[in-house]
Amino acid sequence: MCADIIALGSSRNDIHYTAQFSAPSPGGVTRLCADDNDKKVRDWFRDQVLALGADYKVNATGTQFALIEGMDNSIPPIAMGSHLDTVATGGRFDGPLGVLCALEVLRSFREQDIKTRAPLVAINWTNEEGARFFPPLGSSLVYAGQSTIEAAHASYSNDGSPETMGGELQRIGYVGSGPNTFDEFSISAHFEVHVEQQSSLERADKPVGWVQGWEGMTWYEVVFRGADGHANTADMHGRKDSVQGAARFMTSVETLAHNMHGRSTVTAIESGPVGACNIQSRTKVVFCLMHAEGEGLLEMGRRAEGLAKTAASTHGLELDMTRSLHILPGDFTPEAVDCVARACGDKGVGARTLTGHDSLETLLVAPTAMVFVRSKDGVSHSAKEWSDKDDCAEGALVLGKSVLNFDEYLLKK
Ligand SMILES: [Zn+2]
Repeated sequence: MCADIIALGSSRNDIHYTAQFSAPSPGGVTRLCADDNDKKVRDWFRDQVLALGADYKVNATGTQFALIEGMDNSIPPIAMGSHLDTVATGGRFDGPLGVLCALEVLRSFREQDIKTRAPLVAINWTNEEGARFFPPLGSSLVYAGQSTIEAAHASYSNDGSPETMGGELQRIGYVGSGPNTFDEFSISAHFEVHVEQQSSLERADKPVGWVQGWEGMTWYEVVFRGADGHANTADMHGRKDSVQGAARFMTSVETLAHNMHGRSTVTAIESGPVGACNIQSRTKVVFCLMHAEGEGLLEMGRRAEGLAKTAASTHGLELDMTRSLHILPGDFTPEAVDCVARACGDKGVGARTLTGHDSLETLLVAPTAMVFVRSKDGVSHSAKEWSDKDDCAEGALVLGKSVLNFDEYLLKK
């Protein structure tokens, strides 16, 4: 395979161009799902793919599909997808790089008259980050049959505001009539370029990597309920202060993660009543746990439940605890990973991801693999997130080659 199949660098330019579609976020990007900037970047993406002659569709959960015909359109398309939404005060690369590399592959194949046997589809998944609406992986969960359109539309605001994902997608004009599930629109495979968000490629001195699998992660929502009271006049003894229970729980679950060599992060806190003189009577804590081993993850979850009960009883609180998203460790599809590994050649190395991606959902329905691009110092979800120009170009090149490898694999199958 020749090394010049990709017109190197367009994804990198697009990264910096599309970074303008952001709330004020010095050096980085804040583009939350279905906000006005998300609409602008989606409109931009639509214009780019229409200029390539793609068959363009948007589905009910806002997923954008850009389909390019192959030589045999009876074969389900090979997909290249990721997400254009970011977290608040995020970086320029997490998500957008994958969609923009997909765009670069489509452009480059057209410029160089490379035709695949299977059609190709570039996908922008909705609310991957879950930064504005919970849960994350908003549209890929529905595509993989793990959730419904109704549930995705009802995804609530993390900041307690009344907007839902469905209402906001409707507001920006991104509830469409395109296919919603794998059954309605099947794909032959899904490939996703993503920044590594850790340092294994840097340590190996490699610009790219093939992702063998992921480590386990679980999200929980805990609500502590106490009793209202006057902040100044209520006796310190006998209070049912939900924020004190939550504080005890949060520090204990952090200690648990240290002790079990896992990770724990509180990702959202909501407490009320809001005021200057109230004892807090309801505090919600959303947190995630992460562990390399499945059994370790489950054990952390069991112990975290125990810690929540202890915190609640110590402060006389009622407790509701729900496990909202649970992903055990696993591996991507060997045939697809092999296509990426061969595309990387000696420029790459095998890696594992420590977090969730839309590819974990597509894997449930189709062969799936990911391409990692080296991250500077492994920093992500920060304005400091950075990948060098040549590394991004290498990621796009590997994506293009992986797709061609999989196209060839389908022929031989
Ligand atoms: Zn991402």
